[in-house]
Amino acid sequence: MRLVMLGPPGAGKGTQGQRLSERFNVPQLSTGDMLRAAVKAATPVGLAAKNVIDAGGLVSDDIVIGCVQERLSQEDAKRGFILDGFPRTISQAAALDELLNSSQHRLTAVVELLVDEELLLDRVQKRAQEALDRGATPRSDDNPETMRQRLASYAESTAVLSNFYYNQGRLVSIDGMRDVDQVTADILEALT
Ligand code: AMP
Repeated sequence: MRLVMLGPPGAGKGTQGQRLSERFNVPQLSTGDMLRAAVKAATPVGLAAKNVIDAGGLVSDDIVIGCVQERLSQEDAKRGFILDGFPRTISQAAALDELLNSSQHRLTAVVELLVDEELLLDRVQKRAQEALDRGATPRSDDNPETMRQRLASYAESTAVLSNFYYNQGRLVSIDGMRDVDQVTADILEALT
């Protein structure tokens, strides 16, 4: 199973991606998580990414493609993966196709989660509050101001991927506003 989760921030890519990862026993690969880990470890990638993430922009294609290439070459990703937050641009999507082609693989499907914009702001605020309730630090980009920019980045660079994958015949669009278990069930049904 080789899946891409597509959808704006707060659509549920992480939550659903995790469930699909358990269901199909393949790793969930989140470029957001990889970049946050790099920021925390203050690696060169992290240093280059930090300000961009905090501003709600997109980290450069070269950096992100490099991270994904390295991660996909690891043993556990050989049997499959759930990509969450990648690709986010046409160049990243083309690089992913190339990478998969070179190992004679292709994407099984691209799962697009459709959610109204007002709900996204609510969900991200809720995620920040839940982190605080757990005594954890919320993500530095889970605030209304950065969220608006993240939505703008999505509209500007990522939304076109919906058409890109539709044209490839791989797009599976799912109503992401239903109950979380129902969304999982809808995805699984669409994949079979
Ligand atoms: P996420 O956890 O997927 O919401 O990602 C958090 C932030 O990391 C995004 O707002 C971007 O700044 C950066 N990021 C994650 N994935 C990518 C990507 N594929 N391309 C560019 N930037 C990314």
